Amino acid sequence: MASTLMAIAAHPGDAIFTMGAAVAQHVQQGGKGVFVSLTLGEKGAPKDISTQKYGEMQREASEKAAKILGAGFELLTYPDAEIPLKDETALAVADVIRKHKADLVITHWNGSWHKDHQNCHLIVRDAIFYAALKTMERKDAPHSVRRLYYADNWEDAENFKPDTYLDISGVFDKWMAACDAYPMWRGQTGFFRYNDYYGSLAVMRGCLSGFRHAVALMTDPNERTNRVRSLG
Ligand SMILES: [Zn+2]
Repeated sequence: MASTLMAIAAHPGDAIFTMGAAVAQHVQQGGKGVFVSLTLGEKGAPKDISTQKYGEMQREASEKAAKILGAGFELLTYPDAEIPLKDETALAVADVIRKHKADLVITHWNGSWHKDHQNCHLIVRDAIFYAALKTMERKDAPHSVRRLYYADNWEDAENFKPDTYLDISGVFDKWMAACDAYPMWRGQTGFFRYNDYYGSLAVMRGCLSGFRHAVALMTDPNERTNRVRSLG
């Protein structure tokens, strides 16, 4: 059966810009892809658009981007900038993991100056634990995630040390088109040049890994132990 890759981010832009290429590649290889955002990212609204209207725009952009990439998108609606670091949030994310039977998960690295990103990192780790916990009774049956990766995000760069490079050459254009669904991608809502940064980053990571375009991921330091019977 095809495996399912789930990208869980604090904000929709993080999901598509920093995890979208990996999801697109997984789908292209015959797997399933699901994006999850804990908020609509509505507080990133420019001053001439209300947060409510901007949240709707973010939802529309997310649905469009997911469609381009052939993946699903689950939008949770915790308030942007105020994602609650509570067991209830982790259980809600665990429910989404169980519902989609996610085998692989990508989320934020903890080296972030953004509070929502740090909380998302911690929430996802707890959610993976709860999803697998057989005695935790929820609507869907317990499910174990096989592997957790952290994404290469300009806001989560502290101590980010990639150890996995994924060739995304075959999905680069499609992923760029998906990113372009968001107003913030071309800097319409703020100063940061997301399109230049993430487009160039894929080229740079490709240079380091021998692919035309690549994304770099980091495995959890606790999951790096190799268990072998022989070194040869
Ligand atoms: Zn974010």
